[in-house]
Amino acid sequence: MKTDLAIIGAGPAGMAAALAGQECGLHVTVIDEQAKPGGQILRQPPKQFTVTGWLEDRVYREAKTLLNQASEKSAIIWQFHSAVSAIVSPGVHDNFTLIIAGQNGIRELLAKRVLITPGCFDMPVLFPGCNLPGVMASGGIQAFVKCQQLVPGERFLFVGSHPLQLIVADQIVKAGGKVAGVIFAQSRSRMLALLKSPFTVLRNFDKFAQVGAAIGRLYKAGVPITFNQTIVRANGEDILQSATVAPIANDGLIQKTSTSDIKCDRLGICFGFLAATELAWQAGVECIWDAKRGGWITIHDEWMRSTVPGISVAGEITAIAGADVAALEGQIAAYGCASSLGSVSLQQVEKLSVLPRLKVKRLRRFARILTELSWPGASLLDQLESDSVNLCKCEEVTIGSFFRMMQLNPHITTANSAKLLSRAGMGLCQGRYCQYSVTRLMARQLGVSENKIGAFTSRFPAKAIAIHDLLKCE
Ligand SMILES: Cc1cc2nc3c(=O)[nH]c(=O)nc-3n(C[C@H](O)[C@H](O)[C@H](O)COP(=O)(O)OP(=O)(O)OC[C@H]3O[C@@H](n4cnc5c(N)ncnc54)[C@H](O)[C@@H]3O)c2cc1C
Repeated sequence: MKTDLAIIGAGPAGMAAALAGQECGLHVTVIDEQAKPGGQILRQPPKQFTVTGWLEDRVYREAKTLLNQASEKSAIIWQFHSAVSAIVSPGVHDNFTLIIAGQNGIRELLAKRVLITPGCFDMPVLFPGCNLPGVMASGGIQAFVKCQQLVPGERFLFVGSHPLQLIVADQIVKAGGKVAGVIFAQSRSRMLALLKSPFTVLRNFDKFAQVGAAIGRLYKAGVPITFNQTIVRANGEDILQSATVAPIANDGLIQKTSTSDIKCDRLGICFGFLAATELAWQAGVECIWDAKRGGWITIHDEWMRSTVPGISVAGEITAIAGADVAALEGQIAAYGCASSLGSVSLQQVEKLSVLPRLKVKRLRRFARILTELSWPGASLLDQLESDSVNLCKCEEVTIGSFFRMMQLNPHITTANSAKLLSRAGMGLCQGRYCQYSVTRLMARQLGVSENKIGAFTSRFPAKAIAIHDLLKCE
């Protein structure tokens, strides 16, 4: 199969890009692992489910409009249940081969331009007990509620520093679940700093209204929302039974001597998000480190073109900034691809992108304030770690053994060399979950920047492929 523009990911960035690309006369193909479009923010229930009032808050309205518009465009080719495992470039930049694993095995797609929009995932945070069954990413808990209409636990506790945990706690309460509390590491006054600028509030009214309504419903349901506290340990024999939390003093130090235990069988962790850059790395796209805006994020120009000619990037992999920015970036990226393929002139796309650019600029300002406020701080992450905690859960490499490896091998100064010697990052998840911590720990230990430590080399397949499917390939 051949296409002009292959878009990897059918979230807001991918959907907006598909619409813009198709309107500019391109043959567009969108590939997504999920069964339906919408991405993380609009994870849809299966078609067999009858769901009333699905994501009815005003804040989802714009993304849902985009979803309807994109779904109705019959000219867009959608490939669902399909994971792109590699982007191969034979050296000629308008001829890429995508290796796609789907329900019927592995297939190839030839594309003149590729747009990577794979979104982000919850940032894993290391603390004693973090690998106990029952400890989950808040986004993972939310996926059960949004998509499967299922409350995956009896008694939830949410801990972190990102406001999304209020939304997820509210969705659990609305769905009939019990929430023992929502705990923020920041002070209440730091969170309220967002309200200081009336312009910021007015311009982002829907988001503030959603969080305000969620807080109101949580208070009504008797769910305590506390500040200046953090998780220090998850407890249980084989499964989570309680969480130990501790206050954080004004100097940022965790008061580990005045802890308290909260009974729960699900612990939602919500300290922020990491950009899903593994496929971009594999394709040779350059990334830079930004601890607060997604870890490794992709470099791009004003048309969202990456450092690899012919490959563009949009959405959360360019920096965590929310669904609205993702959609606008997708649109601009598609215009860039269309003009480079000659289906529209540069003047035309320059005109078309004036408004999206203005909107992105304004929204990015808010996104920056939000990421700044939601960032837990390196000091907190450092204090939560302990030697016995698994840094890489796939290969069961503890923080202690990783540091010992570094002490014994002072010549090891990059994430890649540390991976070879320690095995951290060699497991099933291909380092998705430990890469951020490995980079952070090494930079701290060696006193150098994370960009110097570098990332793990991203290998084929970027997404897991069944061995029997691989064997069928020539
Ligand atoms: C778990 C989670 C829950 C979230 N919930 C909310 C929320 O409730 N409200 C909110 O405002 N924001 C939420 N966010 C943030 C939200 O995801 C983004 O702001 C927005 O969806 C970003 O759009 P995107 O197009 O960049 O990526 P996404 O919406 O994440 O879309 C990316 C798509 O790419 C697909 N994909 C990734 N890799 C591949 C591959 N190799 N092959 C094929 N397909 C691939 C994924 O299946 C996904 O559908 C959430 C984020 C996460 C991680």
